[in-house]
Amino acid sequence: MPDPTRPVYKRVLLKVSGEAFAPKSENGVEMEVVSKLADQIARCRSSGTQIAIVVGGGNIIRGSQLSARSQVIQESTAHYMGMLGTVINGLALQDALEHIGCQTRLMTAIRMDGVAEPFIRRRCSRHLEKNRVVILGCGTGQPFVTTDTAAALRACEIGADMLLKATKVDGVYSDDPVKNPHAVYYDSLTYQQVLEQNLRVMDMTAIGLCMDNRIPITVFNYLKEGNIERAVAGEKVGTIVKVS
Ligand code: UDP
Repeated sequence: MPDPTRPVYKRVLLKVSGEAFAPKSENGVEMEVVSKLADQIARCRSSGTQIAIVVGGGNIIRGSQLSARSQVIQESTAHYMGMLGTVINGLALQDALEHIGCQTRLMTAIRMDGVAEPFIRRRCSRHLEKNRVVILGCGTGQPFVTTDTAAALRACEIGADMLLKATKVDGVYSDDPVKNPHAVYYDSLTYQQVLEQNLRVMDMTAIGLCMDNRIPITVFNYLKEGNIERAVAGEKVGTIVKVS
């Protein structure tokens, strides 16, 4: 019998894309939007699950898009700019959480003394054990990958029980459900199905990392009120990707 007083997950990694920080269909950071996100995250702590969050930066800069638009900038430079963008989101989320009394630490993969702590796995785990929400910025610290890969990597490093990928749709579909009303929704998938059918869950490197380390992924809609709490508490809220 499961013990209702004990959380389903000891530790989760939540991936929040940059779009969750911006006003509707725009770029930049809107604190009203960030505060709503922070409210949901702060409420999750009552479940007793430790939460680390990898923040995206697509609302500020996507390295590949910036470099594709200009012959002046080197692609690696554009990716570093993208990584710095994630720290802007991380700082916004940190203040929004602290404003409502939620203890946090911002840790970055690129050293930024005076702004954030460097990401050190053991120190990150210690913060989590102390029930601090740890926000992880700068992705992996390496260019040419995305924050999805960073989320998978950090989930492996910190031994997360589940990677929660917050999106604007209810889960994984055969096609973009916004554009194609006939897109089929998947309740559950294996990593192999995601890779073979090239389904848009996370990028392939991220899926491969989760598959090799047997970390299940839940893709869910964070815009539905209470869904982040439900996902963190281990309730079924979207598509689950796992071994079988
Ligand atoms: N990025 C990178 N290395 C990383 C993570 C991110 O170079 O480990 C850069 C990359 O250019 C990416 C940008 O940061 O486009 C912003 O991250 P991402 O596109 O993953 O943000 P999201 O789509 O989640 O908002």
